[in-house]
Amino acid sequence: MVKCPCMQTIYDLNLKQMEEMLAEHGQKSYRAKQLFTWLYRKRAESFEEMSDLPKALTEKLSEEYLLMPLKEIERQVARDGTTKYLFEMADGSSVEAVLMHFHFGDSLCISSQVGCNMGCKFCASGLLKKQRDLSAGEMAAQVLYVQKELDVNGGRVDNIVIMGTGEPFDNYDNVMRFCEIVNSDHGLAIGARHITISTCGIVPRINDFAAGHYQYNLAISLHAPEDELRSRLMPINHAYPLDELMAALKAYSEDNHRRLTFEYILLHEVNDTDAHAKKLADLIRGMNAYVNLIPYNPVDEHGFQGVSEKKALHFYDVLMKNGVKATLRQKHGDDIDAACGQLRARHERNRQNG
Ligand code: SAH
Repeated sequence: MVKCPCMQTIYDLNLKQMEEMLAEHGQKSYRAKQLFTWLYRKRAESFEEMSDLPKALTEKLSEEYLLMPLKEIERQVARDGTTKYLFEMADGSSVEAVLMHFHFGDSLCISSQVGCNMGCKFCASGLLKKQRDLSAGEMAAQVLYVQKELDVNGGRVDNIVIMGTGEPFDNYDNVMRFCEIVNSDHGLAIGARHITISTCGIVPRINDFAAGHYQYNLAISLHAPEDELRSRLMPINHAYPLDELMAALKAYSEDNHRRLTFEYILLHEVNDTDAHAKKLADLIRGMNAYVNLIPYNPVDEHGFQGVSEKKALHFYDVLMKNGVKATLRQKHGDDIDAACGQLRARHERNRQNG
């Protein structure tokens, strides 16, 4: 039968929801684990192949649910092996995911929304406004798609970072369900400490996250150590200024005994002076946290520039001398449309221009 694109993907359901759904079909709860195993361990391509489930059930499920809700429409592979995927979903909208190879394993950066409304001035994702949230299953499918490809050579998605297009805490429930699904022992069994959620700083959701006592890593896009500059770069700072943001983060980190990552893109003559580094150190010193200095991937439309490696190393030194740990992020895939949202933005432009 031809499936309607409005059908829900079965990857949207966590184990409990799968048990409830199967109970409605008169099935015992152990069937949920069986189904999860088929989806995530055996990476089934169809309901028909789920041979230890009753045929009447798999027939019903295939009428009610989509399996893979996305397909690859473009990919770019950089010289360092970084691979950027452009996926199209059942409703025709598209999202990006990026696979990067590190010495500690393969990391997949996934998108959480179609477009983004946060409007950060340096970011390519915000060039296209948010069309909609991604469902938990549409996020899980990005991971599964890439995992299936790695299966061919016995590889594995070791880490997931939710740092692609979208603001994960503007799609909180779906993102948390996605994390639960990929983290589940019956799902992809990716350890919670191998999953990183990156937020621009939506304080009420940081508080929810703190109250949930999750073991996932939290990263905060800071990019400026004082309100005036941060508000100019990141409009979200008007709603949740630095004192509120830092108070919420301190409470989270202390209650949960978790180390925070602060992401800081070095932008030429914007946030890259010694004075900025010292202010940043003053803001963070004493917290269980470190700063990840990120090389900027230029986005033509925005006019910002990155800094030289020498400058980045100097900024790093000033932070360290002022009592704050820092790392310099390696550049990945700088010969492709590496900035989040760049490939998609170009694809959408080409589509509009016919
Ligand atoms: N909305 C979330 C997650 C998506 S952005 C957040 O703000 O954290 C993921 C990270 O990439 C953020 O730190 C973001 O500031 C950074 N980023 C955005 N555009 C970039 C660019 N052109 N070059 C380098 N990093 C960029």
